[in-house]
Formats: sequence, structure tokens, C-alpha cells
Amino acid sequence: MNGKIVVLPGDGIGPEVTAQAVRVLQAVAAKYGHSFAFIERLIGGSAIDREGTPLSADTLSVCQEADAVLLGAVGGPQWDDPEAQIRPEQGLLGLRKGLGVFANLRPVTVHPALVSFSPLKEEKLSGVDILVVRELTGGLYFGLPRGREVRNGQMRAVDTLEYQEDEIRRVVDLAFRLAQSRRKRVASVDKANVLESSRLWRQVANMVGKGYPDVSLEHILVDTAAMKLTSNPAGFDVLVTENMFGDILTDEASVLAGSMGMLPSASLGEKGPGLYEPIHGSAPDIAGKGMANPVGAILSAALLLRYSLHLEGPARRVESAVNRAIDDGNRTADIAGTLSTQQMGDAIIKRL
Ligand code: NAD
Repeated sequence: MNGKIVVLPGDGIGPEVTAQAVRVLQAVAAKYGHSFAFIERLIGGSAIDREGTPLSADTLSVCQEADAVLLGAVGGPQWDDPEAQIRPEQGLLGLRKGLGVFANLRPVTVHPALVSFSPLKEEKLSGVDILVVRELTGGLYFGLPRGREVRNGQMRAVDTLEYQEDEIRRVVDLAFRLAQSRRKRVASVDKANVLESSRLWRQVANMVGKGYPDVSLEHILVDTAAMKLTSNPAGFDVLVTENMFGDILTDEASVLAGSMGMLPSASLGEKGPGLYEPIHGSAPDIAGKGMANPVGAILSAALLLRYSLHLEGPARRVESAVNRAIDDGNRTADIAGTLSTQQMGDAIIKRL
């Protein structure tokens, strides 16, 4: 098959890890007789420096016309001025909005050889295989009105949490579809004992669930979900939740894997290209040293093969090559090894 992939390396370690993910995709194309075209563009701080904006209209339109977008990370101390009007993260939010990707998928598994890097006890980590599906374009982060004012001599700030039925329906429906090819269990996370928007979320989740008699649905309050993610993480299969709860729970879940460098993500919409990126940031503390772990970026490339190019077999081969590379003792510094980013990429490509 032919695939058009836009690569947005971004800032800090972004270019270092995406280079390895692109090498893996090139190796997959060569091995399985596919043809992938890679188009590179700027995003984030590097785009501010060179183009005056974190996401140019041209870059967004090239992304919208592609089959998939592979992103590194954005941001860094040189663009961190809180007073700045133009900031690297605006590039990321603009891209998500421009691509209409309403669901963020974060699979969390713990490689048996890496359990000692997690703060949890080994016995709690056995069998952890969670897929967190976070609503990405609604809720508190996008609600209006919002703002600040001084009233009666007091500073006052307002954010608004709003969800519409169809915004809930499409992301919960996706969670059910994904659960069908997994262990067939959806946990819908809300705060229905307090929030009206959560009571709507629960009602819509129940309606969607009726269309999937083969998948079980459980409702969990967000505070209980936060507790269970550390006390019994292996008890979850697919976990679906609104934007802010998902933001917090995905970071909590990522700790299970031992290093930020290990985990991938996919952001999907109704149609159009998906957006694939490791969950970590630009890691300015190690940028330019060639020591970043490329596994999160490489596993994001596997998700790209699976969800945007519908190449399930090659996606599994990449995941299996990563697992075997780790089984065989290949490690970057974040997981107590000495391999460079490139050497870790080599070890994975060798096993494809
Ligand atoms: P970070 O994820 O960049 O780094 C946190 C810690 O994890 C650091 O010690 C870093 O060295 C380590 N780490 C991260 N990825 C690693 C990898 N692949 N291999 C080895 N170690 C790795 O988070 P931060 O330090 O809070 O943020 C740094 C910058 O990244 C900030 O400007 C922030 O805004 C930005 N950021 C961007 C994204 C994104 O682009 N999606 C996400 C989070 C943070």
C-alpha cells in the first residue's frame, strides 16, 4: 500500500526519537513491500523560531491531506516565558483541533523485564494491559465562558465544563469498538455523584453500551479510578473518560510502565489522518545528548500502522520487535542501560 506520512519532529528530543520511528517505518515498508512517503514540517518552538508561528497554515493543511501525522514533542525553556503570546503548545492544540481528533488512546503495558522501574510492587504489575481512551476536544479545556475579572475587590476566575451528547457518544462508542478486540470490558470514569455533565456522560455511556451486548460496562467515580489504577491496575481493560479526568489518569497510568520514554499514543477522529506521538515531552535535560529512549515514538509508529494504515500484521511485528529487544537486554539510560537512541533503534530494527 501507499501511505503519506507527515513527520513533525518538534523540539528537544522530538527529532531524535522520531528519526528512529521513521527508520522503523522505512524498514517495515521495505520488508512488506509498502511505499511510504515522508513529508517533514516544523511545529512548536522550532516553528516559532523559523516561521514565527508554532503551526503554520501550510503545515496544518499538509497534515490534513496526509494519511497520518507522526509527532515528536514540543516545548522547551527558551519558549517558556509565561507572558509570551505565542507558545509551542498552541501548535499542538491547533493541530488536534485542525485534524478533528477527539479521542486520545494510550495503551499502557508493563514489560516483565522492567517491573523494577515502576514504583509499584512487582505482584501488582503482572498482567497490566490498559487502554485509556480520553476525550480530547471538549470539556473544561474548551468550555466557554472562561475568564478572569476583579469583582468587589476580589480576583475571580471562571472555567466552564460542558459536554454535548454527540461528543460523549462518539468517544464512548470508539471505546466499545476497541474493547471488542480486547478483553471486552469498558470502565467509564466520571464524577456523577457531583457533576451534571458526568450524569449526562453516564446516561450516554449506558445508551451506547446497549449496542454492544458482548462488552461489559462498569461506571467508576474518578477518585475511585485513581485509587484502583495503583491498587489493582491489572483489573482494567478499556478505560474511557472526559478530557480533564483523562489528562490526569493517563499520566498516573504512565507511571506503571517505569519510564516516560516507553509509552505511545494515538489521537483519532471520525475520519481523516490520525496523530501519533510518544506521551513524553521534549525532555530538555537530555536533548542533544543522543540518549533518549525511542521506544515510545517507535510504538507510536506501530499504532500509526494499525489505526491509520490498517496494517495490523506489521504493527504487531513492530511491537514484538520492541519486546524482544528489551527481553534481550537492550536498554537506554532511563531504564538503566547504556545504549544511545540510535543503538536502541538499531536493536529494534534488527529484530523486525
Ligand atoms: P518530559 O516528558 O519532557 O520529561 C520528564 C522527564 O522524563 C525528564 O527527566 C526527561 O529526561 C525524561 N524523559 C522524557 N522522555 C524521555 C525519553 N524518551 N527517554 C528518556 N527520558 C525521557 O516532561 P517535562 O520535563 O515536564 O517537559 C519538558 C518540556 O516538554 C516542556 O516544555 C513541556 O511543556 C513539554 N511537553 C511537551 C509535550 C508534548 O509535546 N506532547 C508533553 C509534555 C511536556
